[in-house]
Amino acid sequence: METPDRLIDAKTTDDLIKLRPESLDALIGQSELKENLRIFIAAAKQKNVPMDHVLFHGPPGLGKTTLAHIVAKELGVGFRATAAPMIAKSGDLAAILTNLQPMDVLFIDEIHRLNPAIEEVLYSAMEDFQLDLIIGEGPAARSVRIDLPPFTLVGATTRTGLLTTPLRDRFGIPMRLQFYPPEDLQKIIMRSSKALSVSIAEEEAAHEIAKRSRGTPRIANRLLKRISDFALIKGDGVITLDVAKDSLKALHVDNGGLDELDHQYLTCLIDNYGGGPAGIETLSAAMAEERSTLEDVIEPYLLQQGYIQRTPRGRQVTQKTYTHLGL
Ligand code: ADP
Repeated sequence: METPDRLIDAKTTDDLIKLRPESLDALIGQSELKENLRIFIAAAKQKNVPMDHVLFHGPPGLGKTTLAHIVAKELGVGFRATAAPMIAKSGDLAAILTNLQPMDVLFIDEIHRLNPAIEEVLYSAMEDFQLDLIIGEGPAARSVRIDLPPFTLVGATTRTGLLTTPLRDRFGIPMRLQFYPPEDLQKIIMRSSKALSVSIAEEEAAHEIAKRSRGTPRIANRLLKRISDFALIKGDGVITLDVAKDSLKALHVDNGGLDELDHQYLTCLIDNYGGGPAGIETLSAAMAEERSTLEDVIEPYLLQQGYIQRTPRGRQVTQKTYTHLGL
């Protein structure tokens, strides 16, 4: 997922692979989603058919890619991954689909960004495992139909509303990922600290990091790494509650877990628009940030935590924001 520079990035480093749970049992949190998925996976295996296509949606860093890997692992099938912006022509999609092994999982990240012509090719592939391609141009053009190996498409997107209805309707299993409560993030932090050989002295320290991770495992992991750097250089390498608090302060993460971007957003609303309501386009122009960044990365957590409200006339801050910012 494309995200701005907020301790989140899109790169999959070796470290990130180490931190990635490999089975449903090892995946922390999202219990309802996990239990449903377990049933659909078991049923597909028992019937010996490819599992229905799955759409994971939710803000960046909550585990959509991780879950896609897990689905393939648990089904015991191959895994191919791509992202919609990388599929430039219908021929690219054809090449990917015809190279799949029967039953494989094909993961398409940012699936809302598929171009419409390619999306149409995907419809018959998803529905009938057939590919209808137009070869050539003008009067010489002809259409060919190619049989595909049966496969499971796993799509990921930040919001289902970004998908066209025909595409959305072709996913038999739409699943929404929720922000993680601090208890879950604390477990993720403890698990990651073992994988990264980082020592956390007190449970309170892990809890403090968890509370301030915006409900997002990717942010929790990233904060853990940065705080362990502080611990190493400023202390004896061990993360204590004090080290965690000092480092979070230095990283500009406040005690509600809001970071600089969140602060910019909230103060922009308050200083320029009297707390709102202000339209999303107006805010995006005032902050010089893409509208999609505001909608996908900043707002979901602020809404979930009750810092802002969405009204028909635009975004508005709540009393909680004034209290939080000490205004
Ligand atoms: P997304 O695709 O939604 O942006 P990812 O699947 O790339 O998110 O997850 C981001 C990071 O968070 C990965 O390093 C992953 O290992 C970790 N992560 C996500 N969900 C969990 C979870 N439930 N338990 C443990 N780690 C997780």
